[in-house]
Amino acid sequence: EAKGRGRGTHVSYRQAMRGQLEERALLELDLKHALERDEISVSYQPIVDTDGKTVLCHEALMRWNHAERGAVEPSTFIPIAEDALLIEPLGEWLLRTACHEAVTWPENVKLTVNVSPLQLKNRAFLGTVVEALASSGLAPDRLLLEITESTVLEMDDDLQSLIKSLTELGVSFALDDFGCGYSSLNYIEKMQFSMIKIDSDFVQAAASGSTRSQAIVTAIVSLANSLDIAVTAEGIETEEQAAAMRELGCTCFQGFYFGFPIASQSSDSGNVTEIKARKVA
Ligand code: C2E
Ligand code: MG
Ligand code: MG
Ligand code: MG
Repeated sequence: EAKGRGRGTHVSYRQAMRGQLEERALLELDLKHALERDEISVSYQPIVDTDGKTVLCHEALMRWNHAERGAVEPSTFIPIAEDALLIEPLGEWLLRTACHEAVTWPENVKLTVNVSPLQLKNRAFLGTVVEALASSGLAPDRLLLEITESTVLEMDDDLQSLIKSLTELGVSFALDDFGCGYSSLNYIEKMQFSMIKIDSDFVQAAASGSTRSQAIVTAIVSLANSLDIAVTAEGIETEEQAAAMRELGCTCFQGFYFGFPIASQSSDSGNVTEIKARKVA
């Protein structure tokens, strides 16, 4: 609050707040119609093996190309989608679209899809995944669901049984953005992740010589190795960063140095239109 700083400051602060709220409300209104307006698409970014060449997975990343504003950042629209309960239809569309895309890739290349904690809280999510796999024909063991640790996921019975069902199906989990959130060892134990993705901020710190960050990466790699969990270094932009993270024991790499997120050529194929039409009804 602008206590003692005069009325002008106070008013302009409130105006700025109102501006932000209006901006968010406008985006939310438009996001409601984004799928039917064909403004949502998927880009794919590779995760590569230690050799820097072999593609292990492609991560599906949601894109919103707003008719007037152009590209809106996921860091802007994903939280809005979560608040407005739009993340489920958007997430379902993305999952189905990406599964259909992934069946056209070589069989040893997996698909990773970011999943919001809100999607995991809905019992219907299991059916959504089963349907996306069945209709695309993608083998369940080619699907990894990325869960970011920035939100605390309550490990209740419903979530545990959802994870159990998905795991039995053959689907696996990756812990996203590790190092900048709330992950506890309990979480890592319960979720049986098959991959931990070390966040780019952490990668940057470790690669630029922070001995504390390096020590933590070494400890995570050691823990991951003993639990048979792969460790991916995110946000690799230079050869030096790749070398530093390889030195610390990371075996998978993702970042602009290895490949940018790229829009699929075939993402507008017939089936997709049908899904869009159904989802907005
Ligand atoms: P994330 O899952 O950690 O994805 C990695 C982000 O880092 C992507 O940003 C990617 O474009 C960016 N990135 C990759 N390599 C580099 C690099 O070398 N340097 C830099 N500076 N950035 C790099 P993007 O696509 O903007 O996505 C941001 C976040 O939005 C994602 O972070 C994810 O948490 C969320 N998100 C994206 N798509 C979806 C989705 O379909 N569903 C949900 N629930 N969240 C999504
Ligand atoms: Mg991710
Ligand atoms: Mg990440
Ligand atoms: Mg990240």
